[in-house]
Amino acid sequence: MTFLQIQGLSAFYGRTQALFNCSFDISEGEFVALLGSNGAGKTTMLRAISGLLPFKGSITYDGKHLEKVAAQKRLELGIVHIPQGRGTFTEFTVDENLSLGATIVASRSQIKADKEQWYEAFPRLKERRDQLAGNLSGGEQQMLAVARGLMSRPRLLMCDEPSLGLAPSITQEILKTFKALNRDHGMTLLVVEQNVDITLQYADKAFVLEAGQIVASGSAEEMVNNEDIKKSYLGAVR
Ligand code: ATP
Repeated sequence: MTFLQIQGLSAFYGRTQALFNCSFDISEGEFVALLGSNGAGKTTMLRAISGLLPFKGSITYDGKHLEKVAAQKRLELGIVHIPQGRGTFTEFTVDENLSLGATIVASRSQIKADKEQWYEAFPRLKERRDQLAGNLSGGEQQMLAVARGLMSRPRLLMCDEPSLGLAPSITQEILKTFKALNRDHGMTLLVVEQNVDITLQYADKAFVLEAGQIVASGSAEEMVNNEDIKKSYLGAVR
């Protein structure tokens, strides 16, 4: 069943149009990669879905039209967007960052149980739970950003370039965690990545944005074997 349906979506920054009539579907429980070169419109797409940017066209999420749904309400519906550049609260501890992520979970016992669950998934964060986020390594901060996003109990987790500035081994680790969330929790994932080779090892399918338009789509396997994609993106190291 279609979980997220984007139809004829256009988005603007003032007079500058960044997305042009984009359409694609994502089923519940899919792990989807959003690919494309710098400035293609990937971040803009996530912003439109999470409610940070107005758009034209339609976005249907779990049967609901998002056109008139505010960002906070979208979060309550389970749409979580982890922005590029991590955005953890550096002056707070790991544990406090997780508490701050629990924006829509009401009871303390639930928050505690959720924290323990994500500490199991990210043992390094558990070891550093009382450390200031600002003192974590880049990879650990990225894991914290993901874990904090998970505290909002997402049904659709969107992550913008989780590998930015990280070594390939850490990128693998983060993508592996995404795969586990997808497999074990049925979480739907939309991940923007420039590390195309690694991402396609984990994603089910991918969409490619170019100059604000969807120019290719297919299963991860089709993408890996597509000559145009190979030429343009595979093996490209940022
Ligand atoms: P990258 O991989 O470099 O992060 P991207 O695919 O995420 O790129 P976007 O950030 O979505 O690309 O940008 C799409 C287009 O919109 C670009 O041409 C960019 O210059 C423009 N743009 C992005 N943010 C703004 C803004 N706040 N104001 C005006 N134009 C913007």
